[in-house]
Order: sequence, then C-alpha cells, then structure tokens
Amino acid sequence: MNDLTDPVAAEPAEPVDEAAALRPRAYAGQCEMCGAKGAFVGTSLGARESFPCPACRATLRYREQAGAILTHFGRGRFSFFTRFVRFPECQRLAILEAAIRGPFTRHLKGHPGYVQSYLFEDVPPGESRDGVVCQNLEAMTFADESFDLVITSDVMEHVADVEKVVAEVARVLKPGGAHVFSVPLKFPLRDHSQVRARLVGGEIEHLLEPRYHRSGTDTPSLVFTDFGRDLVDLHARHGLRATFHRSHPFVKRLVHSAAVIAVRP
Ligand SMILES: [Zn+2]
Repeated sequence: MNDLTDPVAAEPAEPVDEAAALRPRAYAGQCEMCGAKGAFVGTSLGARESFPCPACRATLRYREQAGAILTHFGRGRFSFFTRFVRFPECQRLAILEAAIRGPFTRHLKGHPGYVQSYLFEDVPPGESRDGVVCQNLEAMTFADESFDLVITSDVMEHVADVEKVVAEVARVLKPGGAHVFSVPLKFPLRDHSQVRARLVGGEIEHLLEPRYHRSGTDTPSLVFTDFGRDLVDLHARHGLRATFHRSHPFVKRLVHSAAVIAVRP
C-alpha cells in the first residue's frame, strides 16, 4: 500500500486543482499512526493539515510520516505506528525528534532510545529542560552516527541555514538511518527552493514578504525556505537519498501532501 515514489516521476503532467482532487472530501481507511479504521474527512485547511484520524486526530502530514517510517524501518510488516513502537524493530532504534509536541512525542514517550530536542533560547545546548534536550539543528552536540531515525515535522522550513542542518542530520545518522520529515510543498513543485529570508551578520534579512507559522511554543516562527524539487539535490550533496512518500491513491496526485524520507546509505 505504501510506496516510495520519485517526486519528479510522480508529478502530474497538468496542474492539479486540489479541491477537485480531494472530492469526495472523505475516504474510508486505516490510520497509519494508531490503526483506527473509519472515515477520514477533509476540512478547509488543505490536505496536509486535514483528514484527521477519527480516533487519534493525527493529520495527513503526520500520518504520511508514520507511513514512511513503517515502510523504511518496519519493512512493510506493520500497518500502524503505535503497534510498530512495541516491537523490537522499533525498540532497538535510536530516535531523535526535534519537537516538543505532536503525535510522535506522545507515542514515543518511554521508548528506550528516544531523544526529544528543542531549541530553547534560555537553555545551554546539550542541557535538558523537562526531559527535552536543547539542540540547535545547525550545530548539534551529538556524536557522529548517533541515531537510526531523525524526525522533524514542519521544522526544516524554519531553519536559517538549511545546508548546515542537512549536513548535521547526515552526520548524526547511522548508515542505513533516515530523516523522516514534513515541510509545506506547493504544487506545481518549483524547480528551485526559494529563500524567503536569511541571516546576515546575525540579523534577519527578508528577501520576500515575511511569513510566519505557529511554533511548538505558540510563538510566531519565520519561514526561511519554500522548498522545491532541488530538495533532493540538497540532500544528495550531503550523501542522503531523499524521496517523497505518499500512502493514499488520491494523495499521490498531491505533491505537497508528501512526507520526505532522506536515507543515509
Ligand atoms: Zn489514528
């Protein structure tokens, strides 16, 4: 049911009307996060922030990430994440998640190899607050090859130097490990990622109208990058093979509803 699809090959030849592609705005299925079966109903929020699980409320973008993790680490033997978590195939993984909330933080609590990180402004890097270690993704304090799985959900578009972050993720991943992440992707997928803002001498320089998302601490978080097709090249420069993951037939028509899995060979 799940597959790893080349983003270029998977892109529709003609622009897709998302509203039309989502009609009917509900489908019957099983949640890749919690296994619940039922109706997944679209809302006005767009595909990726929509179609919540009727039981656990995980939205499509989180469920696509769960599907990517199950495909890569579960070898297709597990149909949902909360089951996978209880098995040795998951329990033996060293996992870093850069988040303070979200479905993975809940389901991985108590997992022996789970490390949760966040960039606190008032905590020194490497030190923890309430069990969450402070990390700047551009300069992590972890040793090389520390993790099998790195999870970030709508984080990569907010980092100031994405090249540094991908290099750091590649460094801390073990061979065979993977970074499974979500970022907003707009169709038609642009060829080149667009830099919306950058840091120059510690000051933010806006190249485009500033755009903010709500951060993990509910403060506005500036979008630095709108990603495009060259997201694959960005990862290749650091030895990672990035592909897009889509679970559902109708989602396969929506490039911007994919999770990305970047594997270190
Ligand atoms: Zn669910």
